Amino acid sequence: MLLNKVFRAGLRSGVRLQSSGATAARATSSPAGSLGYSFELTDQQKEFQQLARKFAREEMIPVAAAYDKSGEYPFPIIKKAWELGLVNGHIPQEYGGMGLPIFDSCLITEELAYACTGMQTAIEANSLGQMPVILAGNEAQKKKYLGRLTEEPLMCAYCVTEPGAGSDVAGIKTRAVKTGDEYVVNGQKMWITNGGKANWYFLLARTDSDPKCPASRAFTGFIVDADTPGIQIGRKEMNMGQRCSDTRGITFEDVRIPKENVLIAEGAGFKIAMGAFDNTRPPVAAGATGLAQRALDEATNYALERKTFGRTIAEHQAVSFLLAEMAMKVELARMAYQRSAWERDQGRKNTYYASIAKAFAGDIANQVASDAVQIFGGNGFNSEYPVEKLMRDAKIYQIYEGTAQIQRLIIAREHLGKFKK
Ligand SMILES: Cc1cc2nc3c(=O)[nH]c(=O)nc-3n(C[C@H](O)[C@H](O)[C@H](O)COP(=O)(O)OP(=O)(O)OC[C@H]3O[C@@H](n4cnc5c(N)ncnc54)[C@H](O)[C@@H]3O)c2cc1C
Repeated sequence: MLLNKVFRAGLRSGVRLQSSGATAARATSSPAGSLGYSFELTDQQKEFQQLARKFAREEMIPVAAAYDKSGEYPFPIIKKAWELGLVNGHIPQEYGGMGLPIFDSCLITEELAYACTGMQTAIEANSLGQMPVILAGNEAQKKKYLGRLTEEPLMCAYCVTEPGAGSDVAGIKTRAVKTGDEYVVNGQKMWITNGGKANWYFLLARTDSDPKCPASRAFTGFIVDADTPGIQIGRKEMNMGQRCSDTRGITFEDVRIPKENVLIAEGAGFKIAMGAFDNTRPPVAAGATGLAQRALDEATNYALERKTFGRTIAEHQAVSFLLAEMAMKVELARMAYQRSAWERDQGRKNTYYASIAKAFAGDIANQVASDAVQIFGGNGFNSEYPVEKLMRDAKIYQIYEGTAQIQRLIIAREHLGKFKK
C-alpha cells in the first residue's frame, strides 16, 4: 500500500465535518432521520474501517508471523500506519491529530488486531500513554507533547505498574519529591509497553509520604521526556504472546522533572491515571474482538476444508455448533465494545460499560482462540498454522489494563452502587 497522504488528509478534513462519529452515525443512517438505535456506520466510519482492514490484511498479516518469531519491534509497520492516520486517532485536531470519537478509533483497532495484536498493542499503547495528557494536560503540555506525536511517528508510554503493584495501583512506591522548581523521582516501573521505544512517558509517582493520605490526593501525574538523565531502560521482556510489542522495566534514579510537567496539580495523579481507562478500555476490548474474529474466520475456513469420516469437519454437528458458539461470542463482544465507546462519545460516564466490554471481550478472545486451536486439531498446536499465535496473544487481554478479576470488581461496584440508597 502506498503512503497515501492525500487520502489521510481527506479523512482528516472529513472528520472536521462531524463533532461525533457516533452521533453522526445515528443522524445520517437512521431511516427518516430518526434518532433511535442504528447499527449502521456512517460513510466515514466505513471508510476508516475499510482503510484499516486493507492495511491490516495487505501490510500486517504477511509479516505478523515473522515479527512474532523474531520479537523485533514492528516500527516499519507502525510508521506506515502513522502515515495513513491509523495511529494516535484520539489526539485533538488543535494539536495536529484527527480528534476521532472513541467509537471510530475502536473500529480501526479491531481491524488492526485482526492482523496482529502484537503490533496493535504497540500502537494502542500510544493511546494509553497520551490519554492522561489529552484529558488533563494544559495548553502548553498538549501542544508540546501531543503535537510531537503528530509531527513524527514517535511513541509514548503509560508508566504506572511496578514490580510490587499492578492491580493495587495505590500500592506503587515510586516517589517524587519537590525541590525548588523540580521534582526528583526515584523508583522502578515494570511491564511498560513501548518502554524502550517511547519518546516520553506518562508517569505516576507518590508525592505525599503520609501512608494515611488517600490515593485521591497522594499521587501526581507527570510527563517525562524519555532521554532525561537518570532513566534506565531494562531489557525487552520475553512474553508468552504479542512478542513484537516492546515490554520493559524502567528505573528512575534521581530523575529531575520540571514542575511545568505536572498534570493539573500535585495530588491529582491517581484520578488522571484511572480516568484514562474509561477511554482506553473500549479499544482494548475492540482489540480482543478483532483477535477473536480472526480465530473464528481461520477455524471456519479450516473446518470447511478438512475432511474426516468422508465429510468436512464443519458437517459434524459438534464442530458446527462450536463455530456457532464462537460466532455468538464474537458478535456480543463487538456490541459490548461499541456500546462502551458510544457511551463515552455521548459524554457520559462509561466505567460500567467499559469494564463489561473489557472483561467479556478478554475472556471470549481466550475461549474462541482456544476453540480455534481445537478445530485445527494437531495442526492447531503447531506454529506453522496461525491459531497457536492467536491463543498465546489472547491471554494478555485478561491481564493488562485491569485484570479480568479487577474488571469484575468494578462492574460489581458500579452495579451495586445503583441499588444503594
Ligand atoms: C505485556 C504487558 C504489558 C503491560 N503494559 C503496561 C503498560 O503499558 N503500563 C503499565 O502501567 N502497566 C502495564 N502492564 C501491567 C498490567 O497492567 C498489570 O500486570 C496488571 O494490572 C496486573 O497487575 P500485576 O501483574 O501486578 O498482578 P497482581 O495485581 O499481583 O494480580 C495477580 C492476580 O491476583 C488477582 N487479584 C489482584 N487483586 C485482586 C482482588 N482485589 N480481587 C481479586 N483478584 C485480585 C489478579 O486479577 C491476578 O489474577 C502490562 C503487563 C503486561 C504483562
